[in-house]
Amino acid sequence: MPEKKILVVEDEADIRELIQFNLEQEGYSVTTASSGEQALAQVKASSPHLIVLDLMLPGIDGIEVCRALSSYDIPILMVTAKSDDADIVLGLEMGADDYMTKPFSPRVLNARIRAVLRRRKKFSARQGAVNALISHNGLEVDTIRHIVTYKGQPVDLSATEFSILEFLVRSPGWVFSRGQIIQACKGADYPVTERSVDVQILAIRKKLGDSGSIIETVRGIGYRMAE
Ligand code: CA
Repeated sequence: MPEKKILVVEDEADIRELIQFNLEQEGYSVTTASSGEQALAQVKASSPHLIVLDLMLPGIDGIEVCRALSSYDIPILMVTAKSDDADIVLGLEMGADDYMTKPFSPRVLNARIRAVLRRRKKFSARQGAVNALISHNGLEVDTIRHIVTYKGQPVDLSATEFSILEFLVRSPGWVFSRGQIIQACKGADYPVTERSVDVQILAIRKKLGDSGSIIETVRGIGYRMAE
């Protein structure tokens, strides 16, 4: 298998070197950047398979880097100094795939990177073949006939509830902000606001008999389908 290339963007030299050392131990080929400007230049020069991106950078910050790279289709794992929910939500909406808050252990970083790469691979495979019937953790979603069953029992969902469930179940383990859910599901039976996403999720959970273990709430960020 060819080496996966990872770009590490971090302005603090000691953290950058630590991450680089750790990822090289894992067998990745690592390039680094210490500013947003360098990061954008490195992406063009080295076409990385994944970017570990600190959000707090001098000059062009991490959010701007996400925005600039949104058309590149390179998975981005954001790193934030504190659990700053607003930045995390913005980053996800700008196209980042996942996030971690500092301080983190190398083992957790490695696990997150593997998870992002694995999900990306599944996602690309799925884009090739239109997946009409999705099965996940007891849920069966027939996306053509709009039929949902859970543990073999039919679940009667409204059109909006169905689109939200279909959107979440297509990417188990991915956290989506309310804004992303709205973007993905608008055009259903009525306009969706951030507050109404919560209401719809509540209704879906009720119909599934789910207390939050199937559709998980990620505090301050949004929702995800349990992996
Ligand atoms: Ca920083």
